[in-house]
Amino acid sequence: MDKEKVIIIGGGASGLVAAITAARRGFDVNILEKNDRVGKKILATGNGRCNYTNINISSYNYYSKNKTIIDNIIDRFPPERIVGFFKELGIHEYVDDTGKIYPNSLQASSVLDVLRMECKYLGVKEICDNEVVGILKQNDKFKINTVKDTYTCDKVVAAFGGKASPQLSSDGTGYPIMERIGHSITSIFPGLVQLKLESNYLKRISGIKVDGEISVEIDGDDIKKDYGEILFTNYGISGPPVLQLSRHCINMVEKNKKVVIKLDIFPKYDKNELFQLLKNRFINMKYKTIKESFIGLINKGLIDVVLKESEIENTNIPGTKFKTKDIYKIVNTLKEWKFEVLGPYYWEHAQVTVGGINTKEIDSVTMESKIIKGLYITGELMDVDGDCGGYNLHWAWATGYTAGRSL
Ligand SMILES: Cc1cc2nc3c(=O)[nH]c(=O)nc-3n(C[C@H](O)[C@H](O)[C@H](O)COP(=O)(O)OP(=O)(O)OC[C@H]3O[C@@H](n4cnc5c(N)ncnc54)[C@H](O)[C@@H]3O)c2cc1C
Repeated sequence: MDKEKVIIIGGGASGLVAAITAARRGFDVNILEKNDRVGKKILATGNGRCNYTNINISSYNYYSKNKTIIDNIIDRFPPERIVGFFKELGIHEYVDDTGKIYPNSLQASSVLDVLRMECKYLGVKEICDNEVVGILKQNDKFKINTVKDTYTCDKVVAAFGGKASPQLSSDGTGYPIMERIGHSITSIFPGLVQLKLESNYLKRISGIKVDGEISVEIDGDDIKKDYGEILFTNYGISGPPVLQLSRHCINMVEKNKKVVIKLDIFPKYDKNELFQLLKNRFINMKYKTIKESFIGLINKGLIDVVLKESEIENTNIPGTKFKTKDIYKIVNTLKEWKFEVLGPYYWEHAQVTVGGINTKEIDSVTMESKIIKGLYITGELMDVDGDCGGYNLHWAWATGYTAGRSL
């Protein structure tokens, strides 16, 4: 008897794992990929090192309009299961001190290599340079139309990915295709992305890095914070804590809320301690102007801007001439420098898509579409996004594995 035929649309993270698990179960598997090669985005992950999962995986690290699907998948796929899957393929894990897991080679190419080797061993065919433009179900068979051909199969895995970093692979072409066959798409926007800010000073401080804490303030209330290296750019702000908080900011900007980020560049000091620190510097260095007395305390490029933001007009007098209220104005800028968020930077810089196929239309145990039987949906294409730190690839592997096992 002929083997049942499966087509995987998209040879990315979730598609490759779905292909492996389906082929291990005896299906005849073809991957249709629009790029000239599969797995291009995997090569760019984790700055070329592929942070493929995290020891702290929990459903709290994921976001969706419907969390049932997240709980189901994350319960069944703890990090050890993903580490075990890759270990069998040859990837020895390296866990960094924050819990992020990389291949011990620290090369994303190793992850792609072992996935492709396993596909080859199992007889999975990669058909590249072949963009899928439509899916049709007739009787019990699927017809998959590409720019070049039409393929017939018994089951399909839609692993198109999302729209983040379209220059690397998925560019959002999956959404209209899935809509045409009856699925609905929640509003989508770039996630894990730099933020555009409203400020007159950005050009002057672009390129300066600080270690600090960022909090997100929505309509006056603090909702989330993160800590780490922050980079000012000519459009706004970048750096790991910014990416981590971006989805919370953009979600609210999309809802027309006023979103402000507050920057604390002295998180280890409370306001009174910082006041005392400044006052002592002014007293101990009476011979220096206020501007000069900040040298060695904060980045030189920030001094003028911080004093301007604090409405200090005469910066050429010694700090000892300052009133308490003036020192507190500077303390407030250093501890709570406020910037209004205008929105995300471009899709080309985003690491993930927020939003996607409504997960209520997907069986949360099998990944099968509730609208079209025999069609399975994986990865970033659906309305699930995770934090920065290996969570999005973990989602892609886990959903790809589930689909391949459930066909
Ligand atoms: C720069 C960058 C760094 C990242 N680093 C990390 C990290 O370190 N850790 C982490 O967990 N996550 C990371 N991510 C996120 C992670 O890579 C994605 O969430 C994950 O790859 C999604 O897997 P997927 O299978 O859903 O989609 P993708 O991996 O994007 O794969 C989709 C595939 O489908 C193909 N395709 C799209 N449309 C069609 C079509 N019409 N016809 C045929 N083929 C099509 C695409 O070319 C692509 O090959 C990063 C993302 C970026 C952009």
